[in-house]
Amino acid sequence: MSEHTCEAVVVHCMDFRLQQYINDWLTKRFGIRNYDRISWAGGVRDFSSIQNQIQMSYKLHGIKKVILINHEDCGAYGPTGTKERHLSDLAYAEHAIQALHLDVEKYYLHLNGEFEKIAKGI
Ligand SMILES: [Zn+2]
Repeated sequence: MSEHTCEAVVVHCMDFRLQQYINDWLTKRFGIRNYDRISWAGGVRDFSSIQNQIQMSYKLHGIKKVILINHEDCGAYGPTGTKERHLSDLAYAEHAIQALHLDVEKYYLHLNGEFEKIAKGI
């Protein structure tokens, strides 16, 4: 792997409560120096804002995979942040990213640090 490519880009919320969980999970999953990171309030909620960043990661670093992590009790969603809504937003983002022919994985992160993997197409 060249110095200017990495395996994945990761999108997750900026919420401080989750960063240690996310750091540990990413290190286990990808090691270090192997992913780009987009930390944005609400995760994929404001997809139009993160779409350009994902494209930039693809263009600059040749990523093959996009990891999308939304989480329980997200302040950016407020009372509208039902699990159903999170899954719906994740599915929308997945669909949009697949146009770039990138593999997408979706996760719903619980406040206790549990990463729940969401099946494709849901
Ligand atoms: Zn959040």
